[in-house]
Amino acid sequence: MDERFDRQRVNTMNEAPARHAAIGPNTRLECKICWTVYDPALGDEVWQIPPGTPFSELPAHWTCPNCSALQQDFLVLDD
Ligand SMILES: [Zn+2]
Repeated sequence: MDERFDRQRVNTMNEAPARHAAIGPNTRLECKICWTVYDPALGDEVWQIPPGTPFSELPAHWTCPNCSALQQDFLVLDD
């Protein structure tokens, strides 16, 4: 892995989150780092998120259950 790339990514994460306005109650999102999908219909066992929880209502401390990426590193999945 390129260390400089990682540092650049961290800087980017401090900027305003993009795209999250498009998230609805059933919107699935995919981690852009490890491709883990958050599906509101399933919730998240790792974080004990009950099924039916929209991505936008996840607790602020929720991160990718697989790689700990921040919520703003998730991209909307279009069905
Ligand atoms: Zn991830």
